[in-house]
Amino acid sequence: MMLPPGSTIGILGGGQLGRMLAMAAAALGYRCHVFAPEAELPAADVSAAVTRADYADRAALSAFAAAVDVVTFEWENVDPAAVRHLAQTVPVHPGAHSLEVAQDRLAEKQFVEWLGGRTAPWVQVDSRAGLDEAIARIGTPAILKTRRFGYDGKGQARIMAAGDADAAWDAIDGQPAILEAMVKFANEYSVILCRSQDGAMVHWPVPVNLHKGGILATSSLPVPVLVRSQTEAAVALARTIAEKLGHIGVLTCEFFACMDGLRFNEMAPRVHNSGHWTIEGSATSQFENHIRALCGLPLRPTDLVSPQVEMTNLIGADADDWSRFLSDPALHVHLYGKGEGRPGRKMGHVTRLGK
Ligand code: AMP
Repeated sequence: MMLPPGSTIGILGGGQLGRMLAMAAAALGYRCHVFAPEAELPAADVSAAVTRADYADRAALSAFAAAVDVVTFEWENVDPAAVRHLAQTVPVHPGAHSLEVAQDRLAEKQFVEWLGGRTAPWVQVDSRAGLDEAIARIGTPAILKTRRFGYDGKGQARIMAAGDADAAWDAIDGQPAILEAMVKFANEYSVILCRSQDGAMVHWPVPVNLHKGGILATSSLPVPVLVRSQTEAAVALARTIAEKLGHIGVLTCEFFACMDGLRFNEMAPRVHNSGHWTIEGSATSQFENHIRALCGLPLRPTDLVSPQVEMTNLIGADADDWSRFLSDPALHVHLYGKGEGRPGRKMGHVTRLGK
């Protein structure tokens, strides 16, 4: 069923992804209502309504559910119990299942391997002694990653030699984790797809992603030959993941391009930083197609509008140069309206089409 324009879309989470979702929704005539606990909410600045409450606040969630026509999330660390609570009275897309798999690195890796995907070699780590056993099995260099709440390189510690184990274990506060072999890759890339309520799927041309300090720095196209040779298989895996999850909306799968083939890294059950270039670089942005999927509208084409596209994140103090970016006619500038440019904080991005 198509949700008519004028309806209200609830968004759990209030960051820049919610902000860009709300702007895409507004273009199609929908209103957004943001639910998030933080004082500063970039998404609320451009939304019709906001509920500032904790994700565990059942009364606030119930009132939110009654005020909106469909719910989505822009942040995957929402408690699936909160999503199930909402889903009793209002449709939530994607569903709790997508959330549960994507927010636990162990469940995610098992799920993807079950579907035939290849990941970096990994071992579950639940104790300090378990870490030693894992290092013995995986070898070094390796990366210790918390199972939950990791993003932008947080909740991770590198282990270059067995002697680093104590420091790594302390760095992740002894949380349930996995130890992953450090794989040699030539590039990183992401498959961003959108699945509609009737199961139709579109995917965007695949960008290569450059990370600095665990944080995405740039996403660009065209991609090197090695990545091009792997995209068909990567897209096929991402589509299977979306289908098996019964996922509705945008799903992002990140991959390592290794010389001996692709390795799945991780997924996000949502619009993704590596898809920000789609706002200007594609016939339809990831944000618009996500809104379309939520509202039961047909998805639109995702063709590139320029053979060359580059999105660069403005992180921390980068955004202090806003007047230079805004004065450059070649740049599409997006600033998220965040106050303080703390190190590592995503403040905005710029997209360049063409050379
Ligand atoms: P993640 O949060 O798992 O995406 O990790 C952040 C970044 O760390 C990735 O984008 C890679 O650049 C790097 N990284 C993560 N896992 C591995 C791995 N197993 N081998 C090599 N590099 C990795």
